[in-house]
Amino acid sequence: MDRHYFDANATTPPLPRVVEVVARAMADTWGNPTSTHREGQRARHLLEEARRAVAAALGLPPAELVFCASATEALHLLLRGLQPALGARPALVFPGEHSACLNPLRDWMEVRWMPADPAGCATVVQMAASNETGILYAMPPMPAVPAVRIKDAAQAWGKVPVDLADCDAAVFSGHKIGGPRGAAVLWMRPGLPWSAVMEGPQERRRRGGTEDLAAILGLAEAVADLPGRLARNAALAPLRDALEAEVLAWSGDYAAIGRGQERLPNTSALLLRGHSGENVQIALDLAGFAVSTGSACHSGATRPSHAITTLGYTEAEARSVLRVSLLPGTAPEAVAALGAALKKILRR
Ligand code: PLP
Repeated sequence: MDRHYFDANATTPPLPRVVEVVARAMADTWGNPTSTHREGQRARHLLEEARRAVAAALGLPPAELVFCASATEALHLLLRGLQPALGARPALVFPGEHSACLNPLRDWMEVRWMPADPAGCATVVQMAASNETGILYAMPPMPAVPAVRIKDAAQAWGKVPVDLADCDAAVFSGHKIGGPRGAAVLWMRPGLPWSAVMEGPQERRRRGGTEDLAAILGLAEAVADLPGRLARNAALAPLRDALEAEVLAWSGDYAAIGRGQERLPNTSALLLRGHSGENVQIALDLAGFAVSTGSACHSGATRPSHAITTLGYTEAEARSVLRVSLLPGTAPEAVAALGAALKKILRR
């Protein structure tokens, strides 16, 4: 059976060039970049070349980037490292944040949920785009008191341009842009009251642990494709909009969350009232289509997603959400086939 992948917000297949680069690096340049011999120095040279390439794509000085294994790790390092200096004052947080961000915040800081008064907050955390709805969010204005403004750009990167002028730190994930798993970026403006939490000489003492050079080289290769990827993602909006228009025409009970708002061009959160998003997802999987639900699975129990209920939807509505996220280059025929399969399932 043909498979059709509509879960780009969960992860993306590595680009063929990325697979080649990673495989070659694992075979040929496995030296430890911290070693002083020739093998190590060759690895160090490639690591710094990759850092320059990624920094250039982000418009940042290379020395300000810290390579991490995932955006989750980057957020933990960032928040844990800010805690000693800033943890006494609350963090202003968007309630729809990803758990990668909410978990360390709950552990290490007092959280004040937006749209609370930002006065007195030492940090503000805002995702640039929601992984579940695709809705784009701006950094909220902060009062003159110095506050560290943190942007989670994991989902926005490669799908829409990311503005870094309005923040002091940001995280990016390689596997969302056709890169390999195991490579992500933490950016911090110099001078932040941050201290290292993983001791070690690597990454200018900001993240201990031998760098995963193959994954980082793969990330740099994926970054080279970013301009084309942005264009291919932008071209998905009409396909996504047409799918939503078709689904909404089937029933007045159906909606598309965030329709009409500024959103990622590839993402649709379909609210299928009267249906279980999970059951529809399973039926689509059996029919050859990989999509996702608006629910997060914790210890085997599927809970309605806080990212949906925070927008004012009920728990029952949140359980009826199906997330469709298109990969760049998805063919119109594949979207039409998804629409036909979904129609059949909803009419059973
Ligand atoms: N932040 C957002 C908004 C995400 O969507 C994700 C992953 O889905 C993450 C953070 C975590 O990224 P990673 O898988 O690189 O840890």
